Amino acid sequence: MSPVKIKIKDKKVLYLKWDDNTESFVKLTNLRRACPCALCKEERERLGADYIPLYNDNQVTITNIKIVGYYALNITWKDGHSTGIYEYERLRQLGESSNPLNGLVA
Ligand SMILES: [Zn+2]
Repeated sequence: MSPVKIKIKDKKVLYLKWDDNTESFVKLTNLRRACPCALCKEERERLGADYIPLYNDNQVTITNIKIVGYYALNITWKDGHSTGIYEYERLRQLGESSNPLNGLVA
C-alpha cells in the first residue's frame, strides 16, 4: 500500500489517496499530536493520554513532505520539527479514526 496522491486541503487536513483507491483525511492537529518521534512520544507519556495540547499555527502547518522508502512519510512542520516518520499504516489509522466530513470542516 502506498499513496498515489498527497495533498493539503484548506491548510487543515492531509489528504491521501492510496493505490487501492481508498482515501484518508487526517486533520493536521491530529497528525501533529500523533507525531511518532521519540521526543513527542516521551512527552505524550509524561502528560498522559487525556492531555489536549494547544498548538500554534506553525506547529500545525506542514512545510515539506518527503517519502521515506516504501513505507512512510517524513513531515516537516513550520516550527522546524521534522523528526516524525509516519508509517502509511499509521496514517491510514489516523484517517479512519475521524469522520472524513468532520475532518474537512474542522
Ligand atoms: Zn515529534
